[in-house]
Amino acid sequence: MHQDIVKVLYSKEEIEAHVRKMGAQIAKDYQGEDLILVAVLRGAVMFLADLARAIDGPIEMDFMAVSSYGSSAKSSGVVRIIKDLDTDIKGRNVLIAEDIVDSGLTLKYLLKNLASRQPKSLEVASLLIKEGVQQVNIDCKYPGLVVPNEFVVGYGLDYGERYRNLPYVGILDSTVYKK
Ligand code: 5GP
Repeated sequence: MHQDIVKVLYSKEEIEAHVRKMGAQIAKDYQGEDLILVAVLRGAVMFLADLARAIDGPIEMDFMAVSSYGSSAKSSGVVRIIKDLDTDIKGRNVLIAEDIVDSGLTLKYLLKNLASRQPKSLEVASLLIKEGVQQVNIDCKYPGLVVPNEFVVGYGLDYGERYRNLPYVGILDSTVYKK
């Protein structure tokens, strides 16, 4: 275990099992349909890469990057699109792959923005959900693993761009970000 991690919440094997199950369910639900997986950069990249391989069926992938206005520590819900989709999603089935739903404000903005482009369907798969902190109701069709209200890193999630490559999800030692 990395020295800056105080507790591993989900091991590589537990994440793999969860993503595999999610992928199988998605393949079943979208059988005979087209599907575009959309990952929000950069945190959801590992999740998207593994989820895509867990879906036995034809899919496309596209990416968006967003940044929050205001204080960087807390999501304000006012989001700026840094990189937009390359794909026209009108009339297509879209599944957003998110790393973590915390306040839910970022996702709420994204859903509203993408819905205005008139996709055939628009759903959410999240790797992680932070327990009891959502400020808005997010209808997540493929919910993720529950994490406590702590700052977590690994499997794509960073602190200052580090820790994304940890194969597990864990709680970051608070002395690292309170320095
Ligand atoms: P929300 O708008 O739901 O509050 O937060 C959205 C984004 O904040 C997530 O997609 C993620 O990038 C970041 N975030 C929220 N909680 C955590 C956390 O515990 N660890 C890390 N590394 N990022 C987080």
